[in-house]
Amino acid sequence: MSRLILKNVYKRYDNTEKKLFAPKKARNDFAVKDLSFECPDNSFIGILGPSGCGKSTTLRMIAGLENITAGSIFIGDVRINDLLPKDRNIGLAFEDYALYPPLSVYDNLAFNLKAKKTRAEKIKEAIDRVAPLLKVDELLNMKPSALSGGQKQRVNIARAIVRQPGLLLLDEPLSHLDGKMRQTLRQEIKRMHREIRCTTIIVTHDQIEAMSLADIIIIMKDGELQQMGTPMEVYDGPVNEFVAGFIGEPPMNLLQSTIIRHENGFFFTFEGSDLQVKVPGRSEALVSDGKKVTLGVRPMDVFITDSDTSTPVPVAVYENFGDERRVSVRVGKEILNITTTENVSYKHGDIIHLNFNSEKTHLFDPYSGTVIT
Ligand code: ADP
Ligand code: MG
Repeated sequence: MSRLILKNVYKRYDNTEKKLFAPKKARNDFAVKDLSFECPDNSFIGILGPSGCGKSTTLRMIAGLENITAGSIFIGDVRINDLLPKDRNIGLAFEDYALYPPLSVYDNLAFNLKAKKTRAEKIKEAIDRVAPLLKVDELLNMKPSALSGGQKQRVNIARAIVRQPGLLLLDEPLSHLDGKMRQTLRQEIKRMHREIRCTTIIVTHDQIEAMSLADIIIIMKDGELQQMGTPMEVYDGPVNEFVAGFIGEPPMNLLQSTIIRHENGFFFTFEGSDLQVKVPGRSEALVSDGKKVTLGVRPMDVFITDSDTSTPVPVAVYENFGDERRVSVRVGKEILNITTTENVSYKHGDIIHLNFNSEKTHLFDPYSGTVIT
């Protein structure tokens, strides 16, 4: 059980290949830049971001598999920068962290404990405790080659927690699995975390995985932390357009807009469209006549209405997913996505009317992408 703290951590890779072939800018680029965060004891943290944003690099520095260019990492009160990986008391499960093929599942799980000269009965005790948590108790006599992808990943995670680490690091453990298996294993990881109460970090590029598993999400882009918060904080209050567009499926609509002032208040307008949307009262102080903003609104916060008091817009695409329908409409040059659970059906070109839940609209600076508050 451990609290993990990163303070102003930087990572620059200095391998020859990059120096020779990469463009000059990339050569000096940091894979991780000025990263600071704190994971409370027993928390479940999700590091989320697109491929190449520095997630694995961050985990590998925490684990001691990669040296730290600048900054400090603490576990509890101990600065671990110079500790060997084996002295950090960390359990690791990486996507391609292979099991030993000649060994049975039991011996794979026992491997690290044996290496530490743990007594056989202690090893058995530890495996008996962990195996049912990840449903690998039926597999203990099998060889890795006989396991499915999902089973291998369970064993992989079980191996990481069998020695009761202070910190558990999971790097995209589900990304090679198919949809149904991902969901099952996700629920098992969640239950496992409740049982073992161990500070856990999962790295993923899948926002659903991060939202469903983690108490706190860290969103990264280009090696930099964009936002850290609970799933609801990052969903309801994204600090910039990147986070707004990354969290949520389908993602938040981000429409370029110019504010116009009428007698009854301010409105969002859109180039090439007659649609006008009222700026909500709480945002009035943030806008002025002629100001350019990016309007963010989630697809579920736009409603289709029968009333023809709002400007008509044409349907571009209609999709029926059974439990939900998605309608895209054209707003000038841009597409606005709407999701609805109502039993509606449209075809291309149908004219509909929209109502915005204006309390759920977000304003971003179109130049910096930062939320306007
Ligand atoms: P993620 O896990 O988010 O996909 P990584 O941490 O693997 O991203 O990579 C971050 C950046 O560091 C990328 O630009 C990647 O190309 C670079 N990188 C990762 N590993 C190495 C390495 N061993 N040598 C040089 N560059 C690397
Ligand atoms: Mg990675």
